[in-house]
Amino acid sequence: MRFLKELGQTDPLNIGRQLHGFAAELYPICRSITGDGIRRTLAMIQSRIPLQITEVPTGTSVFDWTVPEEWNIRNAYIKDAHGKHIVDFHQSNLHVMNYSTPVHATMSLNELKAHLYALPERPDWIPYRTSYYQQNWGFCLSHKQMLALGEGDYEVCIDSSLEDGHLAYGECYLPGSSTDEVLISCHVCHPSLANDNLSGLTVTAALADLLSGKSLRYSYRFLFIPGTIGAITWLARNRENVGRICHGLVLTGIGDAGGFHYKKSRQGYAEIDQAVTHVLRDCGEPSEILEFSPYGYDERQYCSPGFNLPVGCLMRSVWGTYPEYHTSADNLDFIQPLQLGRSLRVCAGVVDVLEENRRYRNLNPYCEPQLGKRGLYRSTGGEAIATEINARLWALNLSDGAHSLLDIAERSGLPFATISDAAELLCQSGLLAPIPSGATFAGRDGRLQTDLDKAQQIRGSHKVATLD
Ligand SMILES: [Zn+2]
Repeated sequence: MRFLKELGQTDPLNIGRQLHGFAAELYPICRSITGDGIRRTLAMIQSRIPLQITEVPTGTSVFDWTVPEEWNIRNAYIKDAHGKHIVDFHQSNLHVMNYSTPVHATMSLNELKAHLYALPERPDWIPYRTSYYQQNWGFCLSHKQMLALGEGDYEVCIDSSLEDGHLAYGECYLPGSSTDEVLISCHVCHPSLANDNLSGLTVTAALADLLSGKSLRYSYRFLFIPGTIGAITWLARNRENVGRICHGLVLTGIGDAGGFHYKKSRQGYAEIDQAVTHVLRDCGEPSEILEFSPYGYDERQYCSPGFNLPVGCLMRSVWGTYPEYHTSADNLDFIQPLQLGRSLRVCAGVVDVLEENRRYRNLNPYCEPQLGKRGLYRSTGGEAIATEINARLWALNLSDGAHSLLDIAERSGLPFATISDAAELLCQSGLLAPIPSGATFAGRDGRLQTDLDKAQQIRGSHKVATLD
């Protein structure tokens, strides 16, 4: 099954419009790391893909953290002395600092100012602020609104609740022929922010939808979770099973106009790192590969030293580097249908590589086999003749058990799909045989080696990180 090919039958702009439409439905919801906003969001995802929703009670210990009280909000405003609404939660949910404790009081401008947040350098934008783990309340407003506040008393009201409840997350599991898993994770805890939150969510849901009901090599697990605490909670509850995760991606910030950025896993040389790098090389858009750092999205948790899972993070513009980040300007105009559609295509391309990447053994390794007498020195399609034959020669030469198809694609500079097609044809001709995944492979001297030997051999001076 080639998912990129299946997508290719539809214009990425059309697909992107559907993704953008879903983002527009989700945009008004006031989400947070707990509460009814995230539940409504999960329910809307569940109407599109099979989603199992888990509720974890407040107070549950998850590693060094504790599931917090559940936050819900109904209304919030600031009124001036004439009863005029100066700031209104119903105009933008960003106006309230996320996780604000309830308050209803009248106070002077000076007292109020200690609870106000604005961006003087972007006078029309509302900043996004949170206070999850420190009890506080606050309002976010545009600098222009801030400047318009005159002396006098103000009535402030935040009709919120912070009480024992649950943390909810959603999980879509698609079984494949192997129990080895691919993990795709996105955060769903930001209120009306489009690129940071909804772009990753919509692309992840669309990818799950694309793979749903299909014949798959790997099993796929899609997580829709609140950032940080959600990933920590999921890992705490699934500690025994994470060894099944062979490849993983955090998807976030993939709807803006920028080119792609891929932040490598902590391992740095994992197959997912190689696969994404390869797909981005040929995606026709600018892209940059970033080394792992312990700051960012939930890859921080998946790549914490105790887990050290092969999970990277695919983005377009990098968080914090674009002015719209965590402001009201990260809105539905900031994410573009075509960019969403192209991001889904890249994800489908990565799945294609993971599904087909294998190692093979050349059954005729002593000198080149005579391709002509097997009908393999002719192209099946016109102009591609040189490429097709080239791919066959590369696949034959490097199928020594040590090189995967992805290694061969990298070394030859040819697209992965071309190498994979060549390998399939050579298998049909009895010249190649697949090596069962995982266990062992035949080294150059015929000796059977482990995957760890292989990693050390290929990476040379790269140290393999292994922690208890
Ligand atoms: Zn964020």
